[in-house]
Amino acid sequence: MNTDNDRLVFRDRTYKDNEVDYIGQKQFANVSGSLFVTHLGLELLYIILGCLPMMIINIISILVFAVATGAAKKGMIQLTIWIMITEVYFHVVFASFTLGLSCGFQLWLFGSLTSIFIPFFMPNLSRKQKGQIAGISFVIVCTFLILTILDDNGMMPTKYNPEPQVARLMYYFNAVLGFGSIMIYLGIYIAKMSAKSNELQIAADHDFLTGIYNRQRIQKILDAEVLRAQEVEDSNLMVAIADIDFFKKINDTYGHIVGDEALKDLTSFFFQRMSEGMLFGRWGGEEFLLIAPENKSYDEFVRMMEDLRKQIEEHEFNSYGEHIRYTISIGIAAYDKSMTVENLVNLADDRLYQAKETGRNKIVY
Ligand code: GH3
Ligand code: MG
Ligand code: MG
Repeated sequence: MNTDNDRLVFRDRTYKDNEVDYIGQKQFANVSGSLFVTHLGLELLYIILGCLPMMIINIISILVFAVATGAAKKGMIQLTIWIMITEVYFHVVFASFTLGLSCGFQLWLFGSLTSIFIPFFMPNLSRKQKGQIAGISFVIVCTFLILTILDDNGMMPTKYNPEPQVARLMYYFNAVLGFGSIMIYLGIYIAKMSAKSNELQIAADHDFLTGIYNRQRIQKILDAEVLRAQEVEDSNLMVAIADIDFFKKINDTYGHIVGDEALKDLTSFFFQRMSEGMLFGRWGGEEFLLIAPENKSYDEFVRMMEDLRKQIEEHEFNSYGEHIRYTISIGIAAYDKSMTVENLVNLADDRLYQAKETGRNKIVY
């Protein structure tokens, strides 16, 4: 009796969001690639300084980032993240011990902390991942404090003391890169999040099949229109509900896919009237709610709907080699101030029902 549960678990695993979905493969490859280039620059600095330990360490860094960039390009994101975190951390610690804090390598810790800690707030992280993030963040903050305390007390085992001017130059370099990395990271992160949130908003508001507004969205628009109509002196709000006649027959005769094509075909006629100011959405299966353009009188809107009905009656659409004709019935209602949103929709719905009862392919108003 466990099958349903098992299937649920299986589904959950199958469709689980990628934890790093918000920052993709390309971004990680770019970040890693930039760090690779940065370390090439640093190598030059170390050569100028004649600082052998850092020259060696930095060559390791260059190699590490070449590997990390390759890993990112191959989609091994988790590995890339671990390599980058580890490399930056040890480079900072080693450089700080070797050259002292006056060169500003510790400023990289701010960039590391930002990139590591911000994903902490992503809702789909596991407890384990959150624990790892919290742990590494704690280590980074402690490292910064320990380095500062050691330096304050003259306890840094610094062997190379670069000229003050050179140290200053490196400090500027590291400050720009350390803080620049925060800005780049936040920029990528926020851009990705906004794009994702836009995408989700569009998906939440639109019908997947036809691309027009879905029921929730057109309902919200209608609610707002009714509110406005209540406030405006001579309001002019009219709606229509259009429904394909004998749609079930189209499905039964030609198949569901052709039925879907018929729905898309019908919406193309609504789109033609969008420029006139008509709003519309998918109300149910083969039912559509249309909100009249503001500048139309009731008679004009009735004529507009009659034109639409006729246009559809006369039109033939081709799908999967079939030549198909279909008709629609429409119920129209005008808002008056005594009505609620439901009253208005129900009135249009009653009239649609009348149109169906009295022969279809007609409008009732
Ligand atoms: P009437 O003239 O009275 O409106 O008859 P009808 O056959 O159009 O209405 P009915 O309510 O009996 O059937 C509507 C059909 O619409 C049933 C359902 O399978 C189909 N339908 C609903 N949504 C979709 C869809 O997204 N795609 C397809 N192909 N069919 C759909
Ligand atoms: Mg129908
Ligand atoms: Mg229907």
